[in-house]
Amino acid sequence: MTQPIVIVGGGFSGAMLAARLAELRQASVVIDRTGDFGLGVAYSTPFGGHLLNVRSARMSAVEGRPGDFVDWLAVHRREFADPDDFAPRKVYGQYVRDRLAAVEAAHPGLIDKRIGEVAFIETDGVILSDGARVQGRAVVLATGNPAPAATANDAGGRVIPNPWASGALDRIGPEDAVLILGTGLTMVDMIQLLVARGWRGRATALSRRGLMPRAHGDRPDARAALPPEALEGSVSTRLAAARRLAGTGNWREVMEAYRPITADLWAATDTHRRARLVRHLRPWWDVHRHRIAARIGRALDALRAEGRLTVVAGRLGRVAQGETGVLAHWTPRGGGSAEPLCAAWLIDCTGPAHSAATDPLTAPLIAVGRARMDPLGLGLDLDATGHVLYTDGSPDPALFVLGPPARAAFWETIAVPDIRKRIEDVAAALTTRP
Ligand SMILES: Cc1cc2nc3c(=O)[nH]c(=O)nc-3n(C[C@H](O)[C@H](O)[C@H](O)COP(=O)(O)OP(=O)(O)OC[C@H]3O[C@@H](n4cnc5c(N)ncnc54)[C@H](O)[C@@H]3O)c2cc1C
Repeated sequence: MTQPIVIVGGGFSGAMLAARLAELRQASVVIDRTGDFGLGVAYSTPFGGHLLNVRSARMSAVEGRPGDFVDWLAVHRREFADPDDFAPRKVYGQYVRDRLAAVEAAHPGLIDKRIGEVAFIETDGVILSDGARVQGRAVVLATGNPAPAATANDAGGRVIPNPWASGALDRIGPEDAVLILGTGLTMVDMIQLLVARGWRGRATALSRRGLMPRAHGDRPDARAALPPEALEGSVSTRLAAARRLAGTGNWREVMEAYRPITADLWAATDTHRRARLVRHLRPWWDVHRHRIAARIGRALDALRAEGRLTVVAGRLGRVAQGETGVLAHWTPRGGGSAEPLCAAWLIDCTGPAHSAATDPLTAPLIAVGRARMDPLGLGLDLDATGHVLYTDGSPDPALFVLGPPARAAFWETIAVPDIRKRIEDVAAALTTRP
């Protein structure tokens, strides 16, 4: 029997790759520090109000079987079976686990799930933090998003650095004022969670631009017909064409039109233009592309209208311990000064810290020339299949990256519809090797 594939990380990407490999009769060992195989941060939330941000019809875990999730819902969770709706993320987690279990039952012995912390990547496998070695003929890094980087000091224990940590919000009282760093999807999740727990306080959310994720429409949007100038030429020409189209019609239809071709456009874009996109467009792209369910958008609008959620744009300065919690100095966007923000708690919702250059797993690979950063520092440099590139630019046939850490090569590799395509590519590469 050939040696297994070692998969580091057992979230959606790692677990679903293991399932696909088993279907192709290839054994794998999936190693995850949490042991919650198939869930990761996204689908391990126990809170039913945390909804998918993609309609169920697009959330099949299996490339080539578009109805897989909706069919599963119809059998197991009929109350959520509307394909155009946004199911709870915990229900999606149940679906992913069911698929994993079904494949394990159909192909016994091909998926070995191990709980552990992978500490080192070798040429023929990995070493766990307890010193155990797991050998394989290739390694796939499916490690997901790293934990948030610390952005504020502890202010006498009033800063909640990782809101995803178990019990992170438990100390927040029902009337406590909270200051939230970040105005993206993590902020949205945390506000919802607080409200569901009976919190009646006020929140101020601060980010550089004060941009919040836009909401989906109530019904699915069609794809606009993009004119040639929205697809070719300089970044500013394309952007101007897309804006013109959005201004005359439905901006969501414009975003939908870019959706299936974004990865190809990214691949065809040179480093200079990628740098411009990342620098100028990314914050705007993110809030229009990664949308929230319409009913969550309405709930947030209601909180803002009641004055319970205020969003401000600016830069965080010094954070100190105040009389009633934290005192955060900040500079409003555009300059000037403002009163410090006072709150009982500061929740850091700035999201993951992308740092392949300093990550304990990947930094040693870079140090020995087995990997290199992409020119923009977005992540490891990969080829079009996901092989890690050596310093000289040639692909390592036995080392792959899958999921969010592969963003430098694919850009769109964060959501399920993109990851399931990449699973197919990586599985094909791993099973057609001599
Ligand atoms: C809150 C949230 C909501 C989201 N909602 C949606 C959605 O509605 N629809 C959608 O399409 N996408 C959504 N996403 C995007 C999400 O990135 C993907 O859907 C998918 O969950 C990514 O899975 P992953 O396995 O690549 O990463 P993760 O889910 O992050 O899993 C990585 C796993 O690797 C483990 N790990 C990391 N390093 C090591 C190590 N050294 N040793 C051992 N184990 C390790 C981690 O513990 C983790 O379990 C969401 C993301 C988040 C964070």
